[in-house]
Amino acid sequence: MTAKIIDGKAFAEGLRGRIAEHVAQLKAEHGITPGLAVIIVGHDPASQVYVNNKARQTSEVGMNSFKYELAEDVPEAEVLALINELNNREDVHGILCQLPVPKHIDETKIINALNPAKDVDCFSPENVGKVAIGLPGPVPCTPLGSLMLLRDHLGDLSGLNAVVIGRSNLVGKPMASLLLRDSATVTIAHSRTKDLPAVCAQADIIVAAVGRPEMVKQDWIKPGATVIDVGINRIKAPERGEGKFRLVGDVDYKGVSEVAGAITPVPGGVGPMTIACLLANTVTTACLANGITPPSDLTA
Ligand code: NDP
Repeated sequence: MTAKIIDGKAFAEGLRGRIAEHVAQLKAEHGITPGLAVIIVGHDPASQVYVNNKARQTSEVGMNSFKYELAEDVPEAEVLALINELNNREDVHGILCQLPVPKHIDETKIINALNPAKDVDCFSPENVGKVAIGLPGPVPCTPLGSLMLLRDHLGDLSGLNAVVIGRSNLVGKPMASLLLRDSATVTIAHSRTKDLPAVCAQADIIVAAVGRPEMVKQDWIKPGATVIDVGINRIKAPERGEGKFRLVGDVDYKGVSEVAGAITPVPGGVGPMTIACLLANTVTTACLANGITPPSDLTA
């Protein structure tokens, strides 16, 4: 069998198109333009690239984009004061502070300072709780993107065996919550799991969020299973020349795609969905702030 490639790049493009339509409708019918504020502290080049991509895509779908670039040595109190100001602004519906922040700033204080109603990364305990019990609100972006790809490919997930490898607060745990909400039978595996290949062999759906290059192998996969590879790992690529790198996922793509029914590539699978879902969350929070039911195609 050769697996169908789940094209996250194309899906994300379609999703951004739908977001742009919802934004236009919010403007026309309610006079609301969703606004996303992004805070970046310091000059980490990778973070700069992420933040610039987020700002560009925010503007492209017709939303307001506000960017705050703070010096590497900015006092923590100043970051907290900025968050407080943004919490109180009516034209800002989503706030995110690009992580990691420099060591003198306490990440937990930043997360706790965000108004949960504007926490579009879905880090706050209040929002994590809402995801778990199925209340409306923002949903963690990468798991939401993965869920959208799974629903698009498989339709109803009810009764399917799903194995999530990884139990981080950012990906693994919320992914498991969302799959459970869709009535999958969910197993969460982690570094202490015994006989992971045997656990994976039972899975109709595997979501790999580990951070170990090409760890999931062909002989772990039940024939026809759907494999979502969240991992993004930079590995040396001497075949491309000295000092060159390439990106690979947590799944051995070449081997697994000979057995799986469908698979997300890296790059071009889950990655592009993450920013698109950040924009979707901003539409959701803008709607909720104004007493409007959020569009069902942008949330879990
Ligand atoms: P974390 O490092 O926070 O979590 C990794 C998880 O993998 C942990 O729960 C850990 O278990 C588990 N793990 C580690 N080694 C093994 C092993 N040998 N067998 C089974 N489980 C193992 O990572 P994240 O969840 O933040 O990210 C995971 C990957 O996803 C990374 O490659 C990251 O770059 C990528 N990512 C991609 C995004 C995207 O937009 N596509 C967004 C976010 C992340 P334990 O808890 O026991 O230590």
